[in-house]
Amino acid sequence: MFQTLRLILGDQLNDNHSWLKEKNDKTLYVLMEIRQETDYVVHHIQKILAFFAAMRNFAQELQNKGGHKVFYFTLDNPENRQDLCKNLELLIQKFQIQKFEYQLPDEYRLDKQLSEFCQKISIPSQAFDTEHFLSERNEVSKHFGTKNYLLESFYRKMRKKYNILMEGDKPLTGRWNYDAENRKKYNYQVSVPNEPFFKNEVTDLIKTLQKHQIQTIGFIPPNNILNVPISRKQALQLLEHFVSNLLPHFGTYEDAMHTQEPHLFHSQLSFALNVKILHPLEVLQKAIEAWQSNPQKVSIAQIEGFVRQILGWREYMRGVYWAKMPDYAKNNYFEHSAPLPSWYWTGETRMNCAKFAISQSLQEAFAHHIQRLMVTGNIALLLGVSPDEVDKWYLGIYRDAIEWVEITNTRGMSQYADGGLVASKPYTASANYMDKMSNYCESCFYDKKKRHGKRACPLNSLYWEFHYRHREKLSKNQRLGMVYQTLAKMDKAELQKIVEQAEFYRKNSENL
Ligand SMILES: Cc1cc2nc3c(=O)[nH]c(=O)nc-3n(C[C@H](O)[C@H](O)[C@H](O)COP(=O)(O)OP(=O)(O)OC[C@H]3O[C@@H](n4cnc5c(N)ncnc54)[C@H](O)[C@@H]3O)c2cc1C
Ligand code: SF4
Repeated sequence: MFQTLRLILGDQLNDNHSWLKEKNDKTLYVLMEIRQETDYVVHHIQKILAFFAAMRNFAQELQNKGGHKVFYFTLDNPENRQDLCKNLELLIQKFQIQKFEYQLPDEYRLDKQLSEFCQKISIPSQAFDTEHFLSERNEVSKHFGTKNYLLESFYRKMRKKYNILMEGDKPLTGRWNYDAENRKKYNYQVSVPNEPFFKNEVTDLIKTLQKHQIQTIGFIPPNNILNVPISRKQALQLLEHFVSNLLPHFGTYEDAMHTQEPHLFHSQLSFALNVKILHPLEVLQKAIEAWQSNPQKVSIAQIEGFVRQILGWREYMRGVYWAKMPDYAKNNYFEHSAPLPSWYWTGETRMNCAKFAISQSLQEAFAHHIQRLMVTGNIALLLGVSPDEVDKWYLGIYRDAIEWVEITNTRGMSQYADGGLVASKPYTASANYMDKMSNYCESCFYDKKKRHGKRACPLNSLYWEFHYRHREKLSKNQRLGMVYQTLAKMDKAELQKIVEQAEFYRKNSENL
């Protein structure tokens, strides 16, 4: 019989965890495919497939290579009670377990569920760190205390803490930030290298999800082949591809979007990072090595841009989550309440930018940061959609979506629903930005130049009307000075036409 039961959640697939260093036949590891997790939001089918395939793979390696004892609840297992605590109770009884151990979950709902469970059971329990992040759960809240939160300040602290791109106490080259250089449009100046293709056959898993009638969104992967890194070997291959082939242009085209090159130079490492197959420090180290060994090929602007995402934004968002949950999930600064247009679930809109970003998301459960922020997020914000609806969409559709990183990006960065905690101003854009950063407008039904009238680009009127409508809340924001100066100078009749056009589009958002 076993003495200790150790829970490994679907996003805790860290095979370097200190738990696994020693083999103990009295310890039973448990992983579970459960309805509780497939049903808490409607997920993209490829997101569920990626999680389950990665978990199965991890459990197998744990058993075969690691020689550990593992109990794996498949969705089909007749003993599966489809609920985390009920399954734990079952195993505790079945194997007369004397101690329960778990790694601290990254989601508030699971953290609460497990700590309540531990108070209820009669055996001792213990929580362990996942040994994954580069900052403590409360490091952001401790760093800022009652002061205003600011990514830049936390990011600099992290650079110093890990001595990354530093010269003593100063940033290497004297600059902390290369954002200004990282804003090029993509016009085939350089070609995007072919990506590795991961041939993960998931026919059985698809059948299981269908048999259990699990509600999902998005498309089944072509030929039932899931092209997502679901093992450490595949994740390392993707990391190698990134540092060798994509990093040299990562920063330069970080904000660009292109109809023919949906991923451009983005790493697509988020799934492997978020389920902990890869550690953020090893990703940073690999990238830094690539830059150090060939600074002619990888400039400082590229490496700084990448370090900022992993060491800065990723850790910062996690810290904001733990500092502000559970109230964060109720934030709605603009009191937005409009429904999310149904074309977010189909991609059937004449707005080319939205059509591309949404269709791609439905096809592959992935879109890159600027598509999420400046296309789908921007449009939802300008239309005044309820942040609850926006959150549900983002939490469901992306394979890397786990609440700690989804909600802070969606409700915070993209919808400004926290009133400016994460973002210093709302991320809004009209066709001007879209045309500067993408080729979407070139083949659009709408006219990127028009603010009102027939076929006027919806983003143009919606952009101005959004700022006009929320002038009480936003006009004092220094970063929006230009916007409010332009609005103040705008001809009254022109403003009236813009407002009417935007109101028409908002009322008829289903038909955009
Ligand atoms: C509205 C919205 C929702 C988002 N939802 C998620 C989500 O559910 N899960 C998720 O992992 N990311 C989310 N992001 C952040 C970011 O868009 C993704 O991490 C990124 O697109 C993943 O692609 P990549 O791995 O190619 O990233 P790259 O562009 O190659 O960046 C490298 C890595 O940096 C990290 N990173 C970059 N930007 C951020 C950020 N803003 N916050 C946290 N980490 C970041 C990621 O780990 C990413 O893998 C969201 C952004 C927005 C605007
Ligand atoms: S014209 Fe407007 S709707 Fe069309 S792609 Fe450009 S920004 Fe999007």
